Formats: sequence, C-alpha cells, structure tokens
Amino acid sequence: MLPIHAPARRCFLTPIPQLMTAADLLSSAADCLLAGDTSDARQLVSEADMPVIGAYTALVTGAVNPLLHWQSTVPTAGAGPERSAQRMPSASAEHAIYARDGWRCRYCGTRVIDRSMRALLHRCLPDVARWGARNADKHTALAALSASLDHILPHSRGGTNDEPNLVTACNACQFGRGQWTLEEVGFFDPREHPPVLDEWDGLTRLSRLAATSNGLQ
Ligand SMILES: [Zn+2]
Repeated sequence: MLPIHAPARRCFLTPIPQLMTAADLLSSAADCLLAGDTSDARQLVSEADMPVIGAYTALVTGAVNPLLHWQSTVPTAGAGPERSAQRMPSASAEHAIYARDGWRCRYCGTRVIDRSMRALLHRCLPDVARWGARNADKHTALAALSASLDHILPHSRGGTNDEPNLVTACNACQFGRGQWTLEEVGFFDPREHPPVLDEWDGLTRLSRLAATSNGLQ
C-alpha cells in the first residue's frame, strides 16, 4: 500500500554522486586503454571501485524496506497473468534499446555500461576490474552501472518482451523494483521522460580493443 499522498517518484533513492564520478573514471580508463596506457587505466578502474557504491546498491536491492520500497512483501509468484513465452530481444535489438535510451537508466538517469565492455575490462585488467561470483567479489561500479533491460510491466505480471515495454536500467533500479509494478512503488512511467542523448556510449568504443584484449594484461 502506498503512503497517503505520496508523490510519484522516478526511482527508489536519488543516485549518489559517486556513481557519476565512477562513470567518469571508467570512461577515462577506457580512453587510456584505447591509447595503450594500461598503467593509468588500471589506476582509474581501481579508483572507481568505491565501497560506498556497493552500499548504495545493496540498500536498494537488498532486504525489502517498506520506507524505501513502499511495499512490505514481494508479489506472490504466479499471482499475475501468465508469463509471456515470447523470447527476449536479440543482442542487436537489446543494443538498439540501450542506444535509444542514450545508455542511461531510464529511471534514475545514471549512465550505464555495456555488459560486454564490462567483461572486456575484466579480461584486460582482471586484478582491478574484479568480477567474481559473489557480490563482494565484484567491482562496485562495474556492477552498479551494468546495463540491463527492464520490463516496465514485469514479465512475471504479464509484461511482454516487446520493445515498448523495455527500457534501459541500472543495477539498483532493475533489481530494486523486481516484480513490483510502477504503481505499487509509486514510480512515474519512465517513458514519460524523453531519453538524454549525448556522447555517452556505454563504453562501447572499447569494442575496438576486443581483438587485441588478450595482449593487454
Ligand atoms: Zn537507475
């Protein structure tokens, strides 16, 4: 149940400024890698791995907090309409949605990073671009800024995999909302706000390194 007279909001928590700093650091690291400067890239990626970012993400995606999520329980599995059997978009269609959205979370506006480029950074700089099995073993910013497709109407509640039902989301907005509808958490429909389009590319320019990444370690 929503708090009485609760104003609509765009996301659970205002993104912390360190997310913007981390995106800038990772962007500079990408430029260093493209220029062949692995040493500076390693330093920049390390600086972006801030514990406060991990704490922010955990607050949104962790245990349900009625004050934050405006709900006390997650929806019961199977309570909604039948799940669409339609397949998720192809990789190229997914990429097109991220580009449509300016590689930004359509909820909180945070700049996000292509997961393939995240994996490339890990291959190039495995000691600092950490990506282990447990959350604690993941680079905090690479985890928080990983791009994903979010269903406006959750898939488990009958939402389709059609392009109009899909928007770009950061880690916190994707996993924080989970199976709740926009109405249940009091969110604006992010499609009401046009995407911000500028030079931010989700670090996809790193794809130029893909063929030679094994030589950068
Ligand atoms: Zn977000």
